[in-house]
Amino acid sequence: MRAVPVALTLAARIDHDVGLPLIESHPMATHDDDIRWMQHALALAERAEREDDEIPVGAVLVDADGQVLGEGWNRNLAEHDPSAHAEIVAMRRAGQALGNHRLVGTTLYVTLEPCAMCAMAMVHARVARVVYGATDPKTGACGSVFDLLADPRHNHRVEVQGGILGDEAGRRLTNYFRAKRGRPLR
Ligand SMILES: [Zn+2]
Repeated sequence: MRAVPVALTLAARIDHDVGLPLIESHPMATHDDDIRWMQHALALAERAEREDDEIPVGAVLVDADGQVLGEGWNRNLAEHDPSAHAEIVAMRRAGQALGNHRLVGTTLYVTLEPCAMCAMAMVHARVARVVYGATDPKTGACGSVFDLLADPRHNHRVEVQGGILGDEAGRRLTNYFRAKRGRPLR
C-alpha cells in the first residue's frame, strides 16, 4: 500500500466536502448591466442614510441570470455589529435565501470598495465577481490599501471591477461625513 501524503489527502477531502461544481458559472454582465445594478446599490446606500442614519454604502448580490439573491446596506450602528457592512448583509441574506453558504457564480455590486473583512467573505462564499463604485483610500482591500483579491494564494479568485459610478458614490459619502461634522451640504 502506498503512503499518501497528509497534505494531499487533506486537500482532496476539502474539495469533496465543499461540493463545488467542477465548472463554475460565470456571469456575463454587460457594462449597461453593471451601471444598472450600481444604480440599484446607490439607491440602497441612500436608504442607509435616510432610514438608519448609517454611512451610505449599499450592496446587492445577483446571480448569473440577473436575479437578486440578497441586498442591504450598512447596519453597524443599528445592530451594534462591527461585521454588518453592506456586503456582509447582502451575502448573509443571499445565503439564507439559498440555504447555502457558497454563492457560486454570483456578482456583488457595492458602492464602496470592499474592506479586508468583506473581501475575504467573498472568497469564502466563492463570489465570482465584485463591482464597486468609489475607491476607499483608508481601508479598501481591492487595490487601494490592500490587494487581497489579486493574491494568487487564495483557492478561489474573485474578478474585480472598480470605478462604476464611483463619483456619485463618493459624493454621497463625502456629503454624509460633511453633514456629520455640521457643515452644510453642497
Ligand atoms: Zn467591509
